[in-house]
Amino acid sequence: MKKRVFSGARPTGRQHIGNYLGAIQNYVSLQAEYECVYCIVDIHALTTLQGIEGVQGLQQNVQEMILDWLAAGLDPQKSILFVQSEVPEVTELHTLLSMSTPLGWLMRVPTFKEKVKMQPDNVNYGLLGYPVLMTSDIVLYKAEVVPVGEDQLPHLELAREIVRRFNSLYGDTFPEPQPKLTQAPMIVGLDGTQKMSKQLNNHIELAATAEETAQRIMTAYTDPARKRKSDPGHPETCNIFHLHEAFEPVKAKGIPAECRSAKIGCVECKRLLAQEINAALAPLRERRSELAGKPEYVNEVLSDGARRAQAIARKTIREVKERMNLVRKGT
Ligand code: SF4
Repeated sequence: MKKRVFSGARPTGRQHIGNYLGAIQNYVSLQAEYECVYCIVDIHALTTLQGIEGVQGLQQNVQEMILDWLAAGLDPQKSILFVQSEVPEVTELHTLLSMSTPLGWLMRVPTFKEKVKMQPDNVNYGLLGYPVLMTSDIVLYKAEVVPVGEDQLPHLELAREIVRRFNSLYGDTFPEPQPKLTQAPMIVGLDGTQKMSKQLNNHIELAATAEETAQRIMTAYTDPARKRKSDPGHPETCNIFHLHEAFEPVKAKGIPAECRSAKIGCVECKRLLAQEINAALAPLRERRSELAGKPEYVNEVLSDGARRAQAIARKTIREVKERMNLVRKGT
């Protein structure tokens, strides 16, 4: 029997090439080996979005994200694809797990402290309880494996501690989720310094047109030491080179020598990169525009995913409530 994988991602709308290389490609390849449960975690998004204005883009973001996921190769025949809030059992499990999770564990979480600094006017309970909700996401589906980057390991370790504590108090109920380290590169944005992100507007959307992609790449920072085409470049410090490596690793091998000897200029190098990215993403973009014309199908993918996820969730909740003596005899 295949092991079950769980992963969740916030509804951030149209995905960019950083999301694609860093997570989505990995999601797609895991489908061959695991039973995958992939969730758009809209409730988590509410820890940082607030008020009518804050949440107004949520549904649109969910739609855009699922289009990118499907177009990239997530297959609803192989994976359960759904929206977190459509399986409300997760909030029930969150409450139940919160009863056995020491407050001190949550208050020590570095990301909680960071968020408190970042949004001092909105230090809501959800921010503190975030690790409990994240644990609930995973264990509600009894997932055994969670794909994570190195930076997310401490979050998963806390989830494992929450599981161990529950199991020790009420008996073995949940498997301790194991990390599956992803080797995906950290994709730097077009500003050349920070991780690619929509918020920083240093990204290229998967769904961008070929022209938009080329235009965005032409604005990207390269090697700051290279002022003129005749200056020798330093490809190891240049994000354009790293993007070549990510999209066309074989062709990218020739770039360092040409760059260092100033045989290739940055404009040409960027033009080549735009061609490579556009060629690599052309099939995805075509599938995406086909899917965008079938909103009923896309909705049904998510509704069916929620039904399948809920069937698993209900069994888990029943078991948890039995363990916690919350089930009336004869019911
Ligand atoms: Fe970067 Fe390419 Fe310019 Fe070299 S030639 S500095 S790798 S953009």
